[in-house]
Amino acid sequence: MTQAQTPPLLEVSQLSKTYHLNNSLLQRLAREPVLALKAVDRVSFSVRAGETLGLIGESGCGKSTLARIVLRLHEPTSGRIVFDGADITALPYREMTALRRRMQIIFQDPYASLNPRKSVLDIVGLPMAIQGISRRSEIRDRVVAMIESVGLKSEYLNRFPHQFSGGQRQRIGIARALILNPSLVVCDEPVSALDVSVQAQIISLLKALKRELGLTYIFISHDIGVIGHVSDRIAVMYLGEIVETGPSRSLLTAPQHPYTKALLSSVPRIDVRQKSERVKLSGDLPSPLSPPAGCKFHTRCPFVFDRCRVEAPVLRPRGPESAAACHLLEAP
Ligand code: ADP
Ligand code: MG
Repeated sequence: MTQAQTPPLLEVSQLSKTYHLNNSLLQRLAREPVLALKAVDRVSFSVRAGETLGLIGESGCGKSTLARIVLRLHEPTSGRIVFDGADITALPYREMTALRRRMQIIFQDPYASLNPRKSVLDIVGLPMAIQGISRRSEIRDRVVAMIESVGLKSEYLNRFPHQFSGGQRQRIGIARALILNPSLVVCDEPVSALDVSVQAQIISLLKALKRELGLTYIFISHDIGVIGHVSDRIAVMYLGEIVETGPSRSLLTAPQHPYTKALLSSVPRIDVRQKSERVKLSGDLPSPLSPPAGCKFHTRCPFVFDRCRVEAPVLRPRGPESAAACHLLEAP
């Protein structure tokens, strides 16, 4: 089978997450209006086994929410998640726990995501304990092998998170995510909190581990440079929606959506030759509590015309494996 024919490891359709704010008992008694915030709005995509799907968008556009609902760490409001051929959208908690060993997440902030009172052995070994592995020696042996493969020394086993640098802490987070041999790993801004020099080391490590262990990644970042460096395919998010997807190379060299063009125009250091025109973003990101009508991007789009203000564009195929949602691209 060719890559294109391989069935996807993950397939997400029309996935949405709405948060209801002002919804506490006190606020309801005070008759404060309940506000609906659509953090993720009818998102569909798939990820093939062995590939890296990069997810890019400004802070607040819904990337982390999407990551969490895909892994069922938060419940989606609607939509469907199919993992390795099985619909897991409504899988009961107990079955989800068993499946969780195959789907793991690496968080942005290695300071916040590691328990400061636990040793490396306890942190990295905890997922094994949760899965019912209780032999201390087995846990210890696997943790030692795992921390060595993420570039840490076995002597560090009994140290605590505060005794490590930011980059080393992220290595601990990676070890914890990989200890159960997952197939899918969501990397949620794994290098955003790190110095640039350390970022490069962690990215190389993630790429090497992917090759060695045959992993599949969803790699999230607000930095198009990082995304361009790691991804086979890229999905671009704006205010909870995917506005463009495509193979990395074509999306970076011939972006179609004005928002993707703007993201690329804002980064001089990106090492791809841009054939497309430069697009400057105007204005701030609108509040997701009251997104613009029509195309959500129309308030910041330099090419806006009447139709954009009233009608939301649909994500449509634009060539092999590419899709974009923009009225400009529609035939007149
Ligand atoms: P990103 O990861 O792209 O920065 P997030 O997924 O964290 O974006 O957030 C998307 C939107 O959802 C933001 O407007 C954020 O304020 C809101 N949001 C995220 N988590 C919650 C929550 N638990 N309750 C209410 N609103 C939330
Ligand atoms: Mg986030």
